[in-house]
Amino acid sequence: MRPTGRASRTTAAPMPVPRSGNLTFAMDLNRRDFIAVPAAAVAGSLFAAETAVPWQRKIRRVGQTNMTEHDPVVLDVEQWADYWASLKVDAVLVSVTGILAFYQTKVPYHRKGKFLGARDFFGDCCAAAKKRGLHVIARMSPDLNWEDAVTAHPEWFQRDAQDNPVHHTEDPRLFRTCMFTTYMTDYVPAIMREVNSLYDIDGLYTNAWPPLGALPVCHCQQCRQLPPAGSIEYWDQFNERSVYLWKLYDSIAKQKRAANFYFANLGGGVRSTVDLVKLGEICEWFQCDNQGRGGDDTPIWGCALQGRVCNAVQEGKMSTNVTAAWSTGTPRWRNVYKSRQEEQMWFDETLASGMAPYHHIIGGENGMGEDRRWLEPAQTYFNWMARHDVHFINKRSIANLGVVMGQRTQLFYKPPRGALMREYLDGIYYALLEGRFLFDFVHEDKLAPKDLARYSALVLPNIALLSDAQCRQLREYVDAGGSLLATFETSMYTERNQRRQDFGLAEVLGIRKAGEIIGTTGNAYLARIEKPHEILAGFSNTHWIPGAQNRIPIAPVEAPVLSVVPGFVAYPPELSYPLQPHTNEPAVVVRQKGKSRLIYFPGDIERTMWRSGHTDLARLLQNSIRWVAGANPPVTIDGEGVIEAFAWETQAGFAVHVLNYTNPAMHRGWLRTFYPIGPQKVRMSLPAGRRVTRVELLRAETDVPFSSGSGTIEFTIPKVMDYEVAALHSA
Ligand SMILES: [Zn+2]
Repeated sequence: MRPTGRASRTTAAPMPVPRSGNLTFAMDLNRRDFIAVPAAAVAGSLFAAETAVPWQRKIRRVGQTNMTEHDPVVLDVEQWADYWASLKVDAVLVSVTGILAFYQTKVPYHRKGKFLGARDFFGDCCAAAKKRGLHVIARMSPDLNWEDAVTAHPEWFQRDAQDNPVHHTEDPRLFRTCMFTTYMTDYVPAIMREVNSLYDIDGLYTNAWPPLGALPVCHCQQCRQLPPAGSIEYWDQFNERSVYLWKLYDSIAKQKRAANFYFANLGGGVRSTVDLVKLGEICEWFQCDNQGRGGDDTPIWGCALQGRVCNAVQEGKMSTNVTAAWSTGTPRWRNVYKSRQEEQMWFDETLASGMAPYHHIIGGENGMGEDRRWLEPAQTYFNWMARHDVHFINKRSIANLGVVMGQRTQLFYKPPRGALMREYLDGIYYALLEGRFLFDFVHEDKLAPKDLARYSALVLPNIALLSDAQCRQLREYVDAGGSLLATFETSMYTERNQRRQDFGLAEVLGIRKAGEIIGTTGNAYLARIEKPHEILAGFSNTHWIPGAQNRIPIAPVEAPVLSVVPGFVAYPPELSYPLQPHTNEPAVVVRQKGKSRLIYFPGDIERTMWRSGHTDLARLLQNSIRWVAGANPPVTIDGEGVIEAFAWETQAGFAVHVLNYTNPAMHRGWLRTFYPIGPQKVRMSLPAGRRVTRVELLRAETDVPFSSGSGTIEFTIPKVMDYEVAALHSA
């Protein structure tokens, strides 16, 4: 989820939003496509998706020993298969690769590993897994190949600006392939077809494509014909190519068996490179390569956040989060176990946010790894989970607060100098956790009435890029009684990243832009309390509270709640006082239209809260979210500590998940120990006609008493170590 680069802003002419829902998949022969997708295979895949419950939607657990070149002579295949079967996994990923072959391939330039000899290592692993009833997914890596392939097929590879093939950064013997070339439509399908013809596999998977975090920059002959790297026009082509390749590979998977399918390495949180909504239409299994934190300043909730992204686009289809047993971070140790507590919290977040856990270890030196500390913890955890599977089969999220993700904003918006995109999200996320709100992520391309009907309010944390149509959808949502909280440059840009004259939501929010962004030189602007309001609860004995680091000035409104006191110098203190103690520039705009409650902050308040840590801003944000969300949240959890909570309707009834983040390593990994928190009092509204017969704590493996009133249930979780799940059995 950490951004690794930012695209530059472009000023191209507006183009229509790419249409979603295009299931017919028209192929344009003028594009860089060299293999036709068999029409029957495509039609077959659609038919299968519509008429059967695919096996992969029933997967609860997944395992992978990521194979090394050395494994054919060191990994104990029987021990390997026994281990994964003992974790009650439903599927294992086994490498055929593409960089190094793990079987006797005949595909040119698919180099056999130097320890493979005459052995069919993939075949042995596949057979051992099948003997134990495990599904086998053939794992490929289409991202790198060797110098002999560069010589024979120079057109397959990424080029730098000087037209040199691009070396892999860690091992210069390898070169980076380009996704717009025939490498992806000739070489990769050739391996897929060969593996299909030889083995009893259940699906195909590519690691390392599509790229995570940042869009590719390549100067090969194909890419030179594309719009500039980093532009929205490039993104259109990138998405079209990605969907094309996905469908091509899926059609090849289905040539083996109708129930087989293709999926790829995804993740990147809200900053996914591929259009998540387009992908959500074809993606049967959302595999999150979101393996863990390192020693950097990454908050603990990265895995739960990824789960929220999957929920926003997958509509109940399979999502897994790959949890590394190996030491993630910088530097990393691929073959040594990491903190057990950190790994366990990542599993906890996977389950709480509705994904399936996936245990990932690298290499089988000395049988199953020289460091075997990574074997038992996942075994214990997965077997605990298996005892309670029925409570992890979710039907729907119970949250009634939506947080708009803004995928285009994450990829293309250029924040003010010194600001990072992730700070807006980290800030709002922290405020939501501190305020103990239950919320879902909502993708900007899913704002139709059917998508928003369940939400009483939406939060838009600097969602700068919104189309006219999306602004219209938000207006209709407000007209129907929905509430909004928006910050800073929300709706200042179109979906093509063109800056508007005024906010796209100006009328809805009752605001008008009155100037360009004002930053700060030392002492940021203040907000003067003009009149009492619920969003100011807890502020007493002061006329001033902090504003934010940046703001976009807006025109005066009637009876503002907070007004701007413009910033001034922090040093010298002699000059540290406001030159203009009172203005009519609003620091917040609060409106109520019937049932609908609207709040707009002209400042980057969530980001400034994250950067400064200021508790006034945290309070103001939480008060504001609480006010727009309205009374009667579906679930409340009262108690000490910083938690993240989820509530689901499940196959067995309902489940309330509580993750305990109260930990000195909450903002910087890894967790070293858990700090248990005391009683958490849960109150939940039940849908009409539903009765709860039993409340079972799944981690403690004990029942707790409960009381039910008219349509509500109350109970107390006495203690949460790292994680607790209150399973509500319901008829
Ligand atoms: Zn290229």
